[in-house]
Amino acid sequence: MTRDPRHDILFEPVRIGPVTAPNRFYQVPHCSGMGWQFPRTLAAMREVKAEGGWGVVCTEYCSIHPSSDDMAYPYASLWDDRDIRAHRLMTDAVHAHGALAGVELWHGGRNAGNLFSRLPAMDLGSFPDAKGHPFQTRAMDRSDIRDLRRWHRNAALRARDAGFDVVYVYATHGYLLANFLNPRMNTRGDEYGGSLENRVRLVRELIEETKEAVGDRCAVAVRFAADAEIGEDGEPIEGERREMFAMLDGLPDLWDINIIDYSLEMGVSRFVKEGALEPYMGWVKSMTKTPVVTVGRFTSPDTMVSQIKRGVTDFIGAARPSIADPFLPKKIAEGRAEDIRECIGCNICYSGDALGVPIRCTQNPTMGEEWRRGWHPEIIPSKRAEGRVLIVGAGPAGMEAARALGQRGHQVMLAEAGRALGGRVTREAALPGMSEYARVRDYREQQLLTMPNVEIYRESRLTAEDVRDVGVSHVAIATGARWRKEAFDEEIYHEIATGGAAARVLTPDDIMDGVLPGGPVLVYDADGYYMGGVIAERLRAEGLSVTYATPSDSVSHWAGNTSERWRIRAQMQRLGIGVETATTLASFDGAEAVLRDAYDDAPRRLAVQGVVMVTARRPDDTLYRELREGSQPFTLARIGDCDAPSIIAAAVYAGHRYARELGEDVDRDAPLRHDRMELPG
Ligand code: ADP
Ligand code: SF4
Repeated sequence: MTRDPRHDILFEPVRIGPVTAPNRFYQVPHCSGMGWQFPRTLAAMREVKAEGGWGVVCTEYCSIHPSSDDMAYPYASLWDDRDIRAHRLMTDAVHAHGALAGVELWHGGRNAGNLFSRLPAMDLGSFPDAKGHPFQTRAMDRSDIRDLRRWHRNAALRARDAGFDVVYVYATHGYLLANFLNPRMNTRGDEYGGSLENRVRLVRELIEETKEAVGDRCAVAVRFAADAEIGEDGEPIEGERREMFAMLDGLPDLWDINIIDYSLEMGVSRFVKEGALEPYMGWVKSMTKTPVVTVGRFTSPDTMVSQIKRGVTDFIGAARPSIADPFLPKKIAEGRAEDIRECIGCNICYSGDALGVPIRCTQNPTMGEEWRRGWHPEIIPSKRAEGRVLIVGAGPAGMEAARALGQRGHQVMLAEAGRALGGRVTREAALPGMSEYARVRDYREQQLLTMPNVEIYRESRLTAEDVRDVGVSHVAIATGARWRKEAFDEEIYHEIATGGAAARVLTPDDIMDGVLPGGPVLVYDADGYYMGGVIAERLRAEGLSVTYATPSDSVSHWAGNTSERWRIRAQMQRLGIGVETATTLASFDGAEAVLRDAYDDAPRRLAVQGVVMVTARRPDDTLYRELREGSQPFTLARIGDCDAPSIIAAAVYAGHRYARELGEDVDRDAPLRHDRMELPG
């Protein structure tokens, strides 16, 4: 296939100072949960992006000195010359595919707790730690500023020696340099604070010094926020940002523009849609001749072209779209836009950083597995096992298994009880704000329909006898899980209903099936991810009075890892949903729920006519257990939620792993390569 000529503009080379990007696809710095701990894992992950056609591929935030240490959040480092070797792995790999490599030099200020380095954190004043640790920063004096400038320069020189082509001055996201620019924070009385000119001084010096140090070989980029804050009407307040921008314009070779509100810039799709930064970008391009990059979770080539043509940006910046599909540019180049694995905006990728572990992605099961498992996002070795494969259940696990097995050349039968494919994804995508989750199904369905070796059987609920009658060599059970009505008290599952109230105890599955409580309702969320909040919103939309209760101290506490917890709570408050935190549910008699304080057990009664239990799920593994009885003429596996209920990403991963491993000689005792420091001897 050939490229659609309307997309040609995306493939124009763009000059950035002394270097030239081969096209307009720009993977902006994004955290990977790998940082300095996993250099080989990281290099292989970034390489795949370059191979997939991204013209510029950047690191995550890269600390310039141990006084900027964000552990347990993984970050890159350029602290000494030994770090250069680690980064070389990445730059060489990126260069091998003709792309440029970028590094985002970083000092965290009050956002770096220095839990690992144990140095006092420093910022422009003595401020409380940004992550809530009970310690404060040291106020930087002139000698600290001199040190900082020297560390930044030395890190830039190391970056150049490591082979980077683009070196960043990072002046956003509440890190040290952003605080120097901030008029409310920076009230210093010296030449680095107070007036606009003084506040900009440090950033200006760092840009100039970086250019002087490495500017002959490397482009110098500045990451800068286009807005100061959001007004009460939800519109950005530009304030003095334009003036600041004008004062610095002409110094950097590239502007990387984002906004201050992280939860909007990388917002989940439930609340933030494609191209959300555009309203903030309005003035930027008109004020500069320097190339500009910005993000917007762009996955549609037409939207990308429109952003360039309308002068919003010069580069299509991406973190998440490049994670979900490292080969997005190549697919557009080859006229295969329909093959793009579109990001669903769930931010599971970001949770890796938040949890201090390597990145994973709901849509792309190979993300983070490029080195340790040798998985490529587009290529799978041809099949080695003989015989047909039957997959029972077409949720994310079954669909991905069928897709990947089909790609390997297996003859595959995919049987699904329902009419629609997609399992939980199809059901959940109908809940408020969740429509983009359907992309997990849509990408796979679209791929499956092109595979002559995969047969799909809808409305086919199979029994054990049916499975045996099909006469295949391999069977994978992917029948999913259903929400339970019980609560779990850390030891056992127990019923909540008393006195015949069981019929008024519902689950998210009931709500998704269209069942509604008859009056005021309690949503009890012991799961802690998005489902409790979404169900509460769904019921509120029916005009019901809704109370949300959770044993946790915060609403949707796990969704803090995906950056959406705060938006979920704000949404609940906006919709008038009652919120009870640190509250457990003891019982429900059909008219009253007995709630207990999670700390002192004090009871409280709430008059409700229904309770929705968002607690845990029961694997739907009956079919698997029946088939497991006795010996079988086929290999048998269970995958996804029917094996161990989890997030959608885990189901996709399980399906993919099953397909990769079928017929392979897998070492169960040492299934992974372990990326760790090599010790002498
Ligand atoms: P996962 O997340 O593990 O992929 P889901 O719950 O999303 O699991 O999907 C499981 C799918 O399996 C559902 O679409 C369900 O209709 C289907 N299913 C369950 N039991 C059977 C069966 N016996 N035969 C065919 N399909 C089944
Ligand atoms: Fe997109 Fe979710 Fe993958 Fe992140 S994890 S890239 S948000 S699909």
